[in-house]
Amino acid sequence: MPSNNVALITGASRGIGAETAKLFARQGFAVCINYLSNVAAAESVRQEISKAGGRCIVVQADVSASEDVERLFEALDAQLGRLSVLVNNAAILRPQSKFADISESRFMEMLKTNVLSTFLCCKEASKRMSLKGGGIGGSIVNISSRAAVSGAPNEYVDYAASKGAIDTLTRGLAAELASEGIRVNGVRPGFIHTEMHASGGESNRLERLKSNIPLQRGGQPSEVAEAVLWLASMHASFVTGSFIDVAGGL
Ligand code: NAP
Repeated sequence: MPSNNVALITGASRGIGAETAKLFARQGFAVCINYLSNVAAAESVRQEISKAGGRCIVVQADVSASEDVERLFEALDAQLGRLSVLVNNAAILRPQSKFADISESRFMEMLKTNVLSTFLCCKEASKRMSLKGGGIGGSIVNISSRAAVSGAPNEYVDYAASKGAIDTLTRGLAAELASEGIRVNGVRPGFIHTEMHASGGESNRLERLKSNIPLQRGGQPSEVAEAVLWLASMHASFVTGSFIDVAGGL
């Protein structure tokens, strides 16, 4: 990768986002590590990248709020220069619930954090990348979930629906932005070892469910990061509107 490549990874303080930021940095990208509130986790990602000789900045921003997203992109423009890769990774999961027990406010929060954030960041990124707008193109990778396919019944249909929306947004944007030099693809992880399962109310969920996974184990965040890197890279230059499932065969 040329060293002037610049990647923004939302929600890069922990889990899949953190591993993706570190992998991109190892590949020579200057990386913008975005986070919501866990400054210590974000700083530890920064330190690891810096120690290894990588270039990165850390920017706190709630990516579901348009004013924060504007500030995030302005910081990126000023400190790293032209954006070439956006990874929409930040998302939330709420405790396992039957559909009937999911409140309207929880449903709206889920859509705002998981879907509106992707919409807002894609808008800012595509303005900068678009050939028609004077940019040089770029690549967007949206982190969806196998839940978009399963629907996550009895657990998180709100989360699954938000990821279904991400898939549709990915397909539509891929077709609309292709002529502007922007590729848009998705990665659908499933059962990855991160703190998200604790947010979902069951920290040892993967232990309970691993025998249902064809590969008989949960995945590592680094295994998802590899798929994100490939889609973002020129190795995937003829790939747009596509999805890679990283879910052990599910
Ligand atoms: P995680 O460990 O819970 O980390 C979530 C990250 O998102 C954190 O860095 C958090 O920042 C950030 N974040 C949350 N809300 C934000 C907001 N409004 N603005 C900015 N950042 C925000 O999650 P993960 O498991 O790595 O998941 C990463 C992605 O993979 C998500 O899109 C998730 O839906 C998807 N996924 C995960 C799994 C899995 O099994 N883990 C399966 C399928 C899909 P703070 O640290 O500041 O809180």
